[in-house]
Parts: sequence; C-alpha cells; structure tokens
Amino acid sequence: MFGPPGAGKGTQARLLGEALGYPHISTGDILRGALKDQTELGKKAKTFMESGDLVPDDLVDAIVSDRLKREDCSQGFILDGYPRTIPQADFLESLFAKEGARLLTLGIKVENSILLKRLSSRWTCPRCSRTYSENLAPGTVNGLCSRCGVPLVQREDDAGEVIAERLLVYHNTTRPVIRYYRERGLYVEIDGDRSVKEIFDNIIDIVRERTDLQPQLRSPALQGPAGLRRRIAH
Ligand code: ADP
Ligand code: ZN
Repeated sequence: MFGPPGAGKGTQARLLGEALGYPHISTGDILRGALKDQTELGKKAKTFMESGDLVPDDLVDAIVSDRLKREDCSQGFILDGYPRTIPQADFLESLFAKEGARLLTLGIKVENSILLKRLSSRWTCPRCSRTYSENLAPGTVNGLCSRCGVPLVQREDDAGEVIAERLLVYHNTTRPVIRYYRERGLYVEIDGDRSVKEIFDNIIDIVRERTDLQPQLRSPALQGPAGLRRRIAH
C-alpha cells in the first residue's frame, strides 16, 4: 500500500487486512513500537524518525523479513509503508522469488495541501494506530480510541517541519518505487480525496478485479471513536 503521509494508507491497509484475513504489517508502527520500548532497533531508528527521514534499508529489510516468516503471513499479508526505496523493493523481490509470492500494489493519491491539513489535525491511538481527525488544539483533552478505549495522542512527527520533510522524502524517494511497480504492471492508483468508505470500496473492487481473492466485508471498522461523534479521516 503506497501513499504519502496522511493519504490514509494505514487506515485502508488495516481495513483490507481485516477483509482478507491477512495481517496488516506497518513498518512505521513496528518502528514506533521499538522506539517506545527502547529496543536496540528503536535506538538505531530514533534520530531518523524524529527528523522525518527514512530509517536505513538494512534495518527495515530485517524487520520485514523477520515478520514475513511468521505463520500468520503464510496465506498473505498487507504491507503498509514498505518498500519505500528501490533497494527495499529489490530486497522484497528477492524474498518473494524464494516464496513464489504474488504482489499487487495500490497507491492512494492526495494533494499536498490536503495532506498538510489532515496531518496537523490527526490523532492516533498509541495502542492500535487507528487514526482520527479533529481540529483540536494540541494538548486539549482528546477522545478515546473506539477500539482500545485509550486516549488518543498526536504523533510527534505529525508536527510542522517534520511533516514537510516527510512529504519531501516521499516525493523524492518513494515515487521512484511507484514507477518501478508501474513499469511492471503491478500498480493501481486510487483517488484519496474521498471518504474512507468510498476509497475502501474502490480498493475492494480493484482486489476483486485483479486477484482471485474474496474479501469479506464488515462495517464496524468504519465507526468513530467511543463516546464522541468524530469521523475517521484516513
Ligand atoms: P507516514 O507514512 O505517515 O510517514 P509511517 O508510520 O509509515 O508514516 O512511517 C513513519 C516513519 O518510520 C518514517 O518517517 C520513517 O522514518 C520510518 N519508516 C517507516 N517505514 C520505513 C521504510 N520502509 N523505510 C525506511 N523508513 C521507514
Ligand atoms: Zn486503539
């Protein structure tokens, strides 16, 4: 799943994972977990993540190859935030060549001005990474995650200059990866300036057209946070 920060790829990757019964693997979530737990990986990734830069390929490649070895990936998986560079795409290809896996890449396209607005009003569940949108001033009492009941937080890298850096990195480093998949006929692009549900329906149609998978649709995942009438932005 491709898309710039704020495009909604995390939300859509999670929904698609639920619909297919596949694990949703987000390298960003794994790295944030490592940072929080202060593991060796977290210590190595810290400075890169805090400045909005990419973590070195060898670290991220190792995360992905370890994760894909787990039993729950045996039928399939949704990758969110990986590969982000051409060497990562080559690495993934070498993993897939061994396993005979097949690949479909989906890209969610959203204009920069909309992304900037979305990111600065984005609230994230620190436990399950669901995101919610609200124009709340930082520091105000915010809502609870509809699933976990824990208070939502604003991601540190969703602020000011770091956002600009992440968008720049995306355009410079990740766009060539999209070209890589487009040239191989494996890339489908989706308009992300629509509701979560409209985008998801579009993704489901594409999955039905391009694969022989049968997504199972359930709607509760599209609800807002507990006790508050908020909408999920992405
Ligand atoms: P977003 O797409 O909103 O920027 P992610 O949660 O996917 O957020 O990633 C957050 C940060 O984690 C990135 O800015 C980067 O530092 C790091 N990261 C995540 N995935 C990768 C990757 N595949 N390669 C290098 N760095 C990564
Ligand atoms: Zn949660």
